[in-house]
This record gives sequence, C-alpha cells and structure tokens, in this order.
Amino acid sequence: MLTLFYTLFGFLIAASLLFVLGRHAFWLPIRDQKLPRLVMLHQVTPNELPSGMNMPPVRFERLLQILQRQGREFVTVSELVTSPQIPNQVALTFDDGFADNYEYAFPLLKKYQAKATIYIATDIAEIKKLSPEQIVEMASSGLIEFGAHSVHHVNLTKLDDAQAVQEIQNSRAIVERLVGSCQSFAYPYGRFEERHEAMVEAAGFTSAVSTRKKIEAISSANLFRLPRVSTHGKMSVLQMKIALARGRYRI
Ligand SMILES: [Zn+2]
Repeated sequence: MLTLFYTLFGFLIAASLLFVLGRHAFWLPIRDQKLPRLVMLHQVTPNELPSGMNMPPVRFERLLQILQRQGREFVTVSELVTSPQIPNQVALTFDDGFADNYEYAFPLLKKYQAKATIYIATDIAEIKKLSPEQIVEMASSGLIEFGAHSVHHVNLTKLDDAQAVQEIQNSRAIVERLVGSCQSFAYPYGRFEERHEAMVEAAGFTSAVSTRKKIEAISSANLFRLPRVSTHGKMSVLQMKIALARGRYRI
C-alpha cells in the first residue's frame, strides 16, 4: 500500500515538474545580454483570439517596460543590420499588418518612443488590415519601419521559383510606393529555403527575418534568415523574461 502511495506521489511530482519545465524553458542557455533581440509579434488587442497571436495591450506595455529597464535601445530591423555591433539593441517586429497595430500598439510605441518594424502582406485577404493612411501616418512618425511579407501571404516553398520571385518583388514595390522604402522581408509562415534567401537579396532587400526561435549575433551568414524571440498572447511576465534571455520560453 505504502509502495503504491510513493509510486503515485513520485509520478505526480514528475508530472508537475514536466508540466512546469514544458512551459518555462529554464534549461536553455542564457544568451549574452549584449546580443540583439528581435522580438516577433502579430496582434496587440484585448480581444482573445483562437490563434493566441493577440498580445493584450497591458502585456505589451509590460514587454516595453522590461526592455526599457534592461537598458535596450529600440531600433528598426534596418538600423539593426546596419550597425549590429552596437550592444543591447532590440527590434520589435510585427507580422502581417493587422489594423490593431495602429489602434493598440502604436500609441504605446509612441509613449515609450520605441521603434518597431511592421511586415505587411500587401494583399492578405482574411484579416483586418492597416489602411494606407494608417501606414503613412505610422511611417512618418519616424518610429515605424515597414517591411514586406509577400503579397498574398503564401508559403513560398509551395510556389515555383517565378511565382515566389513575384510575391517577393511585388510586395516590396507596393510597400515602397506607400512609404518610400522597403528594406526588410519576413517569410510567410516562416517557411523558406536557401534559394528564397537569394531571391530576397536579389530583390533589393537588405535583410529577412525568419521564425527560428533563437538569439544570435548578426553576420552575413544569417542576414537573410534572422532568428527571432517568440511571444504568445497568453505568455506570463516570467515567460517573457525567459524568452528575452534564452530565445524561447517553452519547448
Ligand atoms: Zn504572417
């Protein structure tokens, strides 16, 4: 009977340990504080979404405060790749171009004078997008850089090369027409192969971000596959700190 009790108890301890460790990636090495952090975000909205990609504005403000207290300098991705050797830089990045980036994130970015980069999928169908007027206003604030995220938000690896080149080039042209320049690219769904890195470079971009969840020094070797720190709408402050220190907060 006692043996059964100890077995069950041991099992419970192991299960809870696994549960906690699964959600808090303490075991990953802490990366050099000076290395740049690229933070991947999507939506900032108080509305809960099944995707989990929505960060509530209060949580987003906490993220800005944590980064500010760490003494980090908020830069755009283009600024980051131009001077990657400057220590303690952070580049906030938003994928897709959701209208809530204007409504909820932009006021907070202004409050903290925090720069950010928004990657627009110029003709993405299923989302409430930023309007051209909002994009122009954000760009002229000097805080927001706009990059491209393809035209139709398609998995480039599923297209033939000619189509992939069109998606990359056309999205750059559209963003450039709106705000005057478009330097950085984000791969839709984080899917790409080496040939897509070459296509992005040939289209005139100076960098590209991926969804590899890591913190790395920036060099010519990863300029078109930059890793980012992952976030989630429901992440706790502890998970935020783990992600910013180690690149990811859970398995
Ligand atoms: Zn996307």
